[in-house]
Order: sequence, then structure tokens, then C-alpha cells
Amino acid sequence: MSLRIVVTVKYVPDATGDRHFADDLTVDRDDVDGLLSELDEYAVEQALQIAENADDAEVTVLTVGPEDAKDALRKALSMGADKAIHVEDDDLHGTDAIGTSLVLAKAIEKAGYDLVISGMASTDGTMGVVPALVAERLGVPQVTLLSEVSVEDGVVKGRRDGDTASEQLEASLPAVVSVTDQSGEARYPSFKGIMAAKKKPVESWDLSDLDIEAEEVGLDGAFTKVEAATERPARTAGTIVKDEGEGGKQLAEFLASQKFI
Ligand SMILES: Cc1cc2nc3c(=O)[nH]c(=O)nc-3n(C[C@H](O)[C@H](O)[C@H](O)COP(=O)(O)OP(=O)(O)OC[C@H]3O[C@@H](n4cnc5c(N)ncnc54)[C@H](O)[C@@H]3O)c2cc1C
Repeated sequence: MSLRIVVTVKYVPDATGDRHFADDLTVDRDDVDGLLSELDEYAVEQALQIAENADDAEVTVLTVGPEDAKDALRKALSMGADKAIHVEDDDLHGTDAIGTSLVLAKAIEKAGYDLVISGMASTDGTMGVVPALVAERLGVPQVTLLSEVSVEDGVVKGRRDGDTASEQLEASLPAVVSVTDQSGEARYPSFKGIMAAKKKPVESWDLSDLDIEAEEVGLDGAFTKVEAATERPARTAGTIVKDEGEGGKQLAEFLASQKFI
């Protein structure tokens, strides 16, 4: 039977762009270009490698995000994923991590899965909690933060590197794993891959397709609330130390004044 892999991929605001908050203190997503979270490219890569080593496998990429989040799905499809699911609904505005995990878990259940692969964290929210929340909601084992991952005989195995030790972990499928940026460079989409992606299926689901009530998500359903947000002050010109024989000393004095040394 085919190994069904679902990869959760997030469409995030481009970190190099100017990002602002909307009046309700959510990120103004219309104001900035977005892209597939770089950390989720590692998840797509590992899914593709597992699929390549399996007799029969299918890789589905799943995102919960606004209309433009289709760009993230297209990128993952052009890397080699087989199909995509886009969950989009106006009532998702303001959904927090707990709400996002509900939507993802319902969509994963509807899609059907043996293995869910996520990134270690998104590059915007960076909470790193969604994979564990999704596993809890699905009621399956979670093996998170893997630097190496493989699947054999219905078991997912991997290595988690800590500061003082590396652990070898495994879980029987179905399971949720997340992979780190040490798991292996993500491939670049080839021209052929980009052309092929245009013809791959992208399904669109809204909250009613997933039997989720509007009150369970969005700002009203959120367990967390942003009380205040202050934009980062503009960068000021740095201090330039001109070396006229005393450069090293001045540099040390500057570092000491900033309490770096
Ligand atoms: C339109 C919209 C508006 C939102 N507004 C808010 C808001 O106002 N306040 C708020 O707290 N949150 C909001 N969110 C949700 C937020 O962007 C995050 O998805 C959520 O809070 C998860 O936190 P994180 O990004 O830190 O996830 P992490 O736990 O860091 O993510 C880990 C992994 O989980 C997966 N993942 C996370 N999010 C998604 C996703 N959306 N789709 C697919 N995979 C995902 C990825 O594999 C990722 O690598 C909104 C989301 C959407 C779509």
C-alpha cells in the first residue's frame, strides 16, 4: 500500500521586506511579499527522499494561509511533491498556534496520512509548537527535531542532536515528525519541476469542509492575545573606528562600553 506523506508548509512574510502590524495587531500580510518558509523546505526535502526510497509513496503538501499561500504550495510542488491542499477561509484571520493546529489536524485526517513531516519552526512565528500540537490532536506519536530521518517497515526512525548527546528515536506509523535545518540541503526546483508543478492538483478547502466552526479559530477563538506591539526603531549609523595606530585599543574600548567584553 502506498505510503501517504503529508508535509505541512507555511507561507511566511519575506523577512527581508518591511513588515508592519495591522490595526488589530496581527501581521499585515497584504503589505508584504511572502514565500515558503525556508525551514519547511527541509521538511519537503526529507519527504521526497523518503518517497524516493519507498516502493510506492505519495507526497501531499498542506498549507493554512491566505490566497497568496498558493505560492508556497507551488514551490513545494516544483521541488517534486505530488499534490497540494490549501486551507483558506476569511474566518482564519487572527488564528493562533492552537487554532492552526486544529485546522491542520482536521485537514490531515481528511487527506489521509501515514506520516506527517513538519519544519522545526516557522521563520515568522518561530514557536516550534505546531507539530507537537498536531500529533496530540491526531492521537499519534511525535518524534520532533530530527537531523536524520528514514522509514522502514512501518516505522519512522531518526536522530535528534542535543547539546550533550544524540538520541536515536523511532515511532510506529502513523506518526508526526519535524526535521531541523541539519537534515540535509533542500533541492532547487528544476525547470522541468517548475513546468510539471503547473499541472499538479491543488485542492482548496474552507472551514466548512473540515467541520470547524468559525468561533473555534480566528481572533475570537485564540487562546493568546497580542496586547501591544512596537515597531523596531530604524537603524542608526554605526560607529566607525578609523585605525591610526590606536584602532585595536579603540575597538576594545567600544566593545567594553557595550558590555560585550
Ligand atoms: C491568515 C492567518 C492569520 C493569522 N493571524 C495570526 C495572529 O493574528 N496571531 C497568531 O498568533 N497567529 C496567527 N496566525 C497563525 C500563525 O501564522 C501561525 O501559523 C501559528 O501561530 C503557528 O505558529 P508558528 O508559525 O510559530 O508555528 P511553529 O510551531 O513555529 O511551526 C512549526 C511547523 O508547523 C507547520 N506550520 C505552522 N503553521 C503552519 C501553517 N499555517 N500552515 C502549514 N503548516 C504550518 C510548519 O511545518 C512549521 O515548520 C495566522 C495564520 C493565518 C493563516
